[in-house]
Amino acid sequence: MRTMQAMVLERPGESLRLKEMPIPSPGENQVLLKVAACGICRTDLHIFDGELPHPKLPLIPGHEIVGRVVERGAGVTRYRIGDRVGVPWLGYTCGTCRYCRSGRENLCENARFTGYTIDGGYAEYAVADVRYAFPIPARYPDANAAPLLCAGLIGYRAYRMTDDAERIGLYGFGAAAHLIAQVAVHQGRKVYAFTRPGDREKQAFALRLGASWAGDSTALPPEPLDAAIIFAPVGTLVPAALRALDKGGTVVCAGIHMSEIPAFPYDILWEERRIVSVANLTRRDGEEFMAIAQELPIETHVTEFPLKEANAAVAALRAGRIKGAAVLIP
Ligand SMILES: [Zn+2]
Ligand SMILES: [Zn+2]
Repeated sequence: MRTMQAMVLERPGESLRLKEMPIPSPGENQVLLKVAACGICRTDLHIFDGELPHPKLPLIPGHEIVGRVVERGAGVTRYRIGDRVGVPWLGYTCGTCRYCRSGRENLCENARFTGYTIDGGYAEYAVADVRYAFPIPARYPDANAAPLLCAGLIGYRAYRMTDDAERIGLYGFGAAAHLIAQVAVHQGRKVYAFTRPGDREKQAFALRLGASWAGDSTALPPEPLDAAIIFAPVGTLVPAALRALDKGGTVVCAGIHMSEIPAFPYDILWEERRIVSVANLTRRDGEEFMAIAQELPIETHVTEFPLKEANAAVAALRAGRIKGAAVLIP
């Protein structure tokens, strides 16, 4: 039996363990990928902490996979051996439930998710269903391409929910915000970046990427915002962002998990302000975002870690010590 190294979550609350595992075989519509890079997403931390229910266990996490095809299962015509493929969070949808039938496969009742309910990319090899994978624009090296696959895609879905907002606040300037800020600036929006109080380094980083203003998440922006996207999993940011909004503005909660939102007075929601959340992605989001990434050279900042050092990488991300995105290299 051929084996590979993988970082495995055996139980929420525990560290990942380095294990020797069988290399999976691609089934119908699947390819076997040799993983070149896999990003670490905030969602992974929620899985490790038991904040998302019923993960597959034991689990190989990771849903920002960049790999090359080494084997093809039956029925695969889309990719050839050696092709570079990106694998996102959405790993399977049923195509028949009412959400799938109405163009909302991100809400599919029978969806499966990479690195959560199916094994992901914290490993030397991974299998992926080609119907949910994407080709990656050639201009991005492997490690730099990894964060496009979730921080980029789901960040883009959140960004789309701001409609034609001119002034957009980004709360939490991590992997997703640093990519979406560039797309927003490129499309003529003004970006206001909010970081943990006192994080001057991330504020300077945001300004360098084109933000009009950067400051503490406890501060108000110099002008009221048309929309705010909250990437940090911090419930107190919801009333903070509402207070920063202009009339008719929208707060988009982009994370899969958030600490409790404190009570707030109705007058900060009044005047047609809205709060919405973003769940998962559709394949259309992925295709649209990859088309933008093809046209616009998005600067992706990554800190690389060897696969075996996944626990150290997770600790650094937790502590806010990563500028941009953390990426594992097998
Ligand atoms: Zn993610
Ligand atoms: Zn469905």
